[in-house]
Formats: sequence, structure tokens, C-alpha cells
Amino acid sequence: MIQATTNSNSLRCEWCAACGTETTMVKPEQAAVIAGVTVRVVNSWVESDLVHFLETSEGLLLVCVNSLGLIREMRQQSEQ
Ligand SMILES: [Zn+2]
Repeated sequence: MIQATTNSNSLRCEWCAACGTETTMVKPEQAAVIAGVTVRVVNSWVESDLVHFLETSEGLLLVCVNSLGLIREMRQQSEQ
């Protein structure tokens, strides 16, 4: 599902404390595309601590792709 975007440089590898490893971190806009939801939903996940996220020194919010995968699985199970 993760398409190569024209702006692939925006994919960053960052340390995710929740995963305990380096993961791909994406902007909320990209996280929304990956998860198939709106940015508003991603923001609500961040506020509810449902996804892993970090704030860069530039004040940029980045969401852990690993945690998005977990949410996708949860959603698919609940839709069955
Ligand atoms: Zn994580």
C-alpha cells in the first residue's frame, strides 16, 4: 500500500521510543494516506496516544508507520 511518492525524501528514519527501534516516520498527511483516513483522524489518534509519534526539533509532527500498521489491523478485524 505504501506507494513511492514523488517526495520520497520526506520519509525519515527516526528512533521510536515506543517501538524501541528505528522506524519510518511520516508526516500526518502521509500517515492519513497510508491508513486510508483523513488527517483529522490521524490527529485524533495522536491526541489519544493510539499511534506513536514524535516532534522534531523543527516542531514537525511525525507519526510512526509501525503503529499505523497496528491500527490498520485493528480496524480490519473490527470490520469483519
Ligand atoms: Zn513506533
